[in-house]
Amino acid sequence: ETKTKEIKVEVKKSLLNHPTQHVEVKRDPKVQVARLKLPILGEEQRIMELVNENEFLIVAGETGSGKTTQIPQFLYEAGYTQHKMIAVTEPRRVATVAMAARVGYELGLTSKEVSYLMRFEGNVTKETKIKFMTDGVLLKEIQSDFLLSKYSVVIIDEAHERSVYTDILLGLLSRIVPLRRKRGNPLRLIIMSATLRIEDFTENTRLFKEPPPVIKIDSRQFPVTVHFNKHTYSDYLKEAYKKTVKIHTRLPEGGVLIFVTGQQEVKYLVRKLRTSFPYRKDVDYSKLITKKRPVSEADAALDSEPDDIESDDDEVEKEMKRAKKARRKAKLIAKSLPKINLDDYDMPDDDGQADLVDADDDSEGHLSDSDAEEDGLSAVIKSCRQPLWVLPLYSMLSSSKQSRVFAAPPPGARLCVVSTDVAETSLTIPAIKYVVDTGKKKMRVYDHVTGASAWRVVWTSQASAEQRAGRAGRVGAGHAYRLYSSAVFQHECVPHHPPDLCRRPVDDLVLTMRCMGIDKVVNFPFPTAPDRLQLKLAEKRLETLGILEKIEKVNSNKRRIQDDGEILKVTPLGKAVSAFPLLPRYGKMLALSHQFGLLPYTIALVSALTVQEVMSGKPDSWLATGNTLLLGDPGVLLRVVGAAEYAYVKGEEELFCAKYGLREKAIKEIRKLRKQLTSEINLSIAGVDVTVDPEMKPPDDNQARLLRQLVLSGLGDQVGRKIGLDEVKEGEDKRKFKYAYHCGELDEPVHLHGMSILRKTIPEWVVYQELYETGEDNKKMIMRNVTAIEPEWLPVYVPQMCNLGEPLSDPEPRYDEKSGRVKCHFKGTFGKAGWELP
Ligand code: ADP
Ligand code: MG
Repeated sequence: ETKTKEIKVEVKKSLLNHPTQHVEVKRDPKVQVARLKLPILGEEQRIMELVNENEFLIVAGETGSGKTTQIPQFLYEAGYTQHKMIAVTEPRRVATVAMAARVGYELGLTSKEVSYLMRFEGNVTKETKIKFMTDGVLLKEIQSDFLLSKYSVVIIDEAHERSVYTDILLGLLSRIVPLRRKRGNPLRLIIMSATLRIEDFTENTRLFKEPPPVIKIDSRQFPVTVHFNKHTYSDYLKEAYKKTVKIHTRLPEGGVLIFVTGQQEVKYLVRKLRTSFPYRKDVDYSKLITKKRPVSEADAALDSEPDDIESDDDEVEKEMKRAKKARRKAKLIAKSLPKINLDDYDMPDDDGQADLVDADDDSEGHLSDSDAEEDGLSAVIKSCRQPLWVLPLYSMLSSSKQSRVFAAPPPGARLCVVSTDVAETSLTIPAIKYVVDTGKKKMRVYDHVTGASAWRVVWTSQASAEQRAGRAGRVGAGHAYRLYSSAVFQHECVPHHPPDLCRRPVDDLVLTMRCMGIDKVVNFPFPTAPDRLQLKLAEKRLETLGILEKIEKVNSNKRRIQDDGEILKVTPLGKAVSAFPLLPRYGKMLALSHQFGLLPYTIALVSALTVQEVMSGKPDSWLATGNTLLLGDPGVLLRVVGAAEYAYVKGEEELFCAKYGLREKAIKEIRKLRKQLTSEINLSIAGVDVTVDPEMKPPDDNQARLLRQLVLSGLGDQVGRKIGLDEVKEGEDKRKFKYAYHCGELDEPVHLHGMSILRKTIPEWVVYQELYETGEDNKKMIMRNVTAIEPEWLPVYVPQMCNLGEPLSDPEPRYDEKSGRVKCHFKGTFGKAGWELP
């Protein structure tokens, strides 16, 4: 047996013929010195042996151990770029640019040879040898060249981030690599990750039949003392500011790294800290600085509790005394202080970058400049003459500004970087001794009914908190200040956040993957697979909605064939739908409404449908009159949004909400969603330019009818038909069936919601947004947000569910102006239950 094994390995090795011609690199001696300090350098030989002999390799190492900057260089020197390129993917734009620049510099090559490429930006040339790119870009390349024939090695960096694209890439590459070997043209895949949850890759036999070898890089990590706050305050920015002031004024030299959640917060805190501890070009601070006395661990605790121990409030009193003393001193110094000139930092405060990625006005609405006098700190601030060299870091920051964090601060000034979570694992800032962690991050949160997403500020995971703390131990022992209590850490912070791909609604995921040309979403080798049944149901739903269609078995090698001999393909409608940042059914409403010029109405409608419990009671009758009555509950919502906006513009929103029993918070939420959706649609769809109309008038008759059809187009798989009283069995209470409907394949009746406006008319055919079951004792299925439809529309908008016979006379469906009905001239049935169409 041993013999066969050996032979097998040998065959494999020979198929994996690795380059033998090394490339000479002349590095700057300074670079070489810095490199030699990195723990990964001692592992070069072991890593290269594993790369040469394997197709898959996992490199797990602490952040800052040198994975991203060094491994591409090892490969370059070993000759992997002599015929093909090395690809390195990053989930973040910041890292893409910064790392390409760094590797190029260390190798003594230009940006022509070590280049980067991301959406809207890049510097790749014909001479490019190492190509850093965002993971989305490599996915796009796979669509046009499935075998990635330009590359000899693909490195998936930051795999622990588990971005949707990274996960899909890993699944695809697990199949591409063996295909390349079969063609005698091997491709190597290196997965690089912080030391987090490697088992998702190694223990997943669908992804890799045999677990790939793992190489762990031990890094030189100094001890970091973690301090928790005694209390958790909601204004974490204020806390971050206060803590930074204390560190700067009381603790020995060493850079400070502050984690906040978004660009706005970064800018705000940068401005505030710069104003407090200004830096001036024309002052020679190196003379001004007196050596601070060495500080004991107890002092370093500031007023946090070291780990779990409850400390008393003595600190506060001491603090006050100290502050008083300082204030007296400050009065004297204040007169001699120079005026602040923010230009001395040599960069405008606002860099004019679009707030694309982490924009979220609401969550950052608490930013205010009013609290300069915090708890006697102003005196301490004034008495401190050492400037703070404060730098921002976030993903949309221009690359030249990003790179400033790697340079030493001016003599005498202390480095302070205010960053979003990009500094958690993607970028390692040198010389950080203190970490201030707000414990918060921004996460995309999806509404599971509509798929609308919003950035929410949430607690980081425990794993993230550890990563953040670790940043303080790169150059020596450090301190991490968590601005929340240890109870929060234990009870509010989850160990890990689930991967993005598993938090996304499945319909959306299925469509996205289909658009990438991935046929078998259900069988796809995800690193962490979403629920299979959910994927199957999503496929079926998308087919019903005309977003995917079954096409006949084709015998070309390009398309793999599904088990039942058919494959699902994205329809032209589906392509349009996929551009909208919503679940496909709502995307379909939007795509079609664009054709009718009703996009603004539909955006308002979908926004309103995303927010729960807008009304606290039955809607006022004026909200559902005339043409919007049949549009039903969505119609009421549309009127509410229009009227509430009108009141808002006049400054009477609160009054308006109170008068009509509307939940004010819900109205605000809808407004925010409407704005967000409008701008996202403008950004993502070429040729679309919609605005939010503050005085949205009620739709006219024709528009109201079209809106009903649009609602049907998106909810066509959720049709209900009134149960006739003649259908009620002998002995059953007929009153119970007053608002009862048949619905799809369900045996039991479903009922109009108690607050549904359609209880007035009880139309025969309806569509609904959502079904839910009421409480324990009186179980009942309820339809929420119901719209009346005409059965004649079904063959037009939901043809997939109609069985139509031969055309009766005129085969063209005709629109009758007078009745507003489409006459379809077919005899047929609808759905599995075979409801007869008139
Ligand atoms: P890993 O990928 O393992 O997290 P990196 O390769 O990103 O580690 O970083 C290795 C070292 O290189 C770190 O100490 C980091 O500070 C340093 N480094 C990275 N980019 C730059 C740069 N532009 N200027 C100076 N040092 C840098
Ligand atoms: Mg890295």
